[in-house]
Amino acid sequence: MLKYVPAMTSVVMEEIPGKVTLAIDISNCRGNCIGCHSPFLKLDIGEELTEAVIDALVEDNFGINCFLFMGEGRDHERLMELARYVKEEHHLEIGLYSGRQEVEDGIWDLFDYVKVGPYLPEKGPLTKKTTNQRLYHITEKGREDITARFWYRGLENKGRVI
Ligand code: SF4
Repeated sequence: MLKYVPAMTSVVMEEIPGKVTLAIDISNCRGNCIGCHSPFLKLDIGEELTEAVIDALVEDNFGINCFLFMGEGRDHERLMELARYVKEEHHLEIGLYSGRQEVEDGIWDLFDYVKVGPYLPEKGPLTKKTTNQRLYHITEKGREDITARFWYRGLENKGRVI
C-alpha cells in the first residue's frame, strides 16, 4: 500500500522544469537523510493512494502534464504499479523525487524524471548550486542531468524540498 498526504497535494511549476505538475507527497518515507526537513513524512500517515484516487486528482486538476511522486514510501511494487497507471491511463509524464542516492533500474526505465540524492542541509536543495541532489530527464537518448535549470536568479527561495 502507498499512502499520500492529501493536504500537501498541489499543482507546482518549479519542481519539474517546464511542466505543470501535480505533486503528491508520499508518507512512510524509507529515506534516512541526516538533515530531514519533513520527518513527519517518515510516519504512517495520510490516506491510501489508489487508481480511483489518482483518477479523481487528475480530473480535479485539469491542465497538468506531469504527475510527481514526492517520495517513494515502502511498497516499491505498488509505487511502480501506480506510476505505470498514471502514465498509461492518463498519458501524463511521471516524476519521482527519491531521497536515495541509487534507485532500481526499473525506476529509470519507467519514470520520465527522477531526482536522486539525500537532502543535506549544508548543501541545500536542487535550487542551490551547492546541492548534492540531481534531477534527471529520461528520454530515448538516455539520462540528462537537468539540475542546472533550477539555478537561475529568483528561484533559490522558491519551490519545495524533499
Ligand atoms: S527523503 Fe525527504 S522525508 Fe525522506 S528522509 Fe529524506 S528529507 Fe526526510
